[in-house]
Amino acid sequence: MNVYFLGTGTSQGIPVIGCTDAVCNSLDSRDKRLRVAVWVYNENFSIVIDCGPDFRMQMLASGCNRMDALLFTHEHADHTAGLDDIRPFYFKQGDIPVYGHPRVLENLARRFDYIFTTENKYPGAPSVLPIAVDKNEPFSILNQAVIPINACHGGLQVFGYRIGDFAYLTDVKTIEEAEIEKIKGVKVLVINVLRKEPHPTHFNLEEALAFIEKVQPEKTYFTHVSHNFGFHETIESELPPNVFVAYDNLEITI
Ligand SMILES: [Zn+2]
Ligand SMILES: [Zn+2]
Repeated sequence: MNVYFLGTGTSQGIPVIGCTDAVCNSLDSRDKRLRVAVWVYNENFSIVIDCGPDFRMQMLASGCNRMDALLFTHEHADHTAGLDDIRPFYFKQGDIPVYGHPRVLENLARRFDYIFTTENKYPGAPSVLPIAVDKNEPFSILNQAVIPINACHGGLQVFGYRIGDFAYLTDVKTIEEAEIEKIKGVKVLVINVLRKEPHPTHFNLEEALAFIEKVQPEKTYFTHVSHNFGFHETIESELPPNVFVAYDNLEITI
């Protein structure tokens, strides 16, 4: 199974518009971060998690040319605003199965009513097949089991997903012990780490390292990184040996 990091930046991306700080001016390509999304695939399935405003460029850069399912973590714009750009997949494949919490699907149906409607549809608009996710009910996509992981993004519920030996959790601040149990034993864990300083709705570095201690994955990659965290190279040099900072277009095999 392959995991392709489509984007690894926080909601504004890096560089931030109009920002003149050192990280936003960095010449290291790993310091250029689109909004978070990940593509998980093998010869049997192709799953994309989240569809932010950079979706089109991410699909072009990665070479992803089929999407069997689109999984949403939550409704924030940095994870959903690119939904219109699923059109090329819809034209080739028909209705695209989209998975998310019922609240998220309802939210998207309001914001993208022309995509979710079944009446008087504009001929060029894409169509989706919404599928509600329940935190206690694993589902399968082309025979690949997917386990939802329930977590909290400050006051907002979010889903992470475990796919085989891989778990992806973003926009997490707190998570219950029972949900952590679902993640134990993964080879690769991806979690959000915004920066060193505490934040009301995201893990900071200290919280992320404590979480890794509990889960004990073989390897961990950080995502949803802010320009306030510093340079990629500096952050990674300060981490334990099995903990890495993901960067855009990084691809790993599990
Ligand atoms: Zn986010
Ligand atoms: Zn968010």
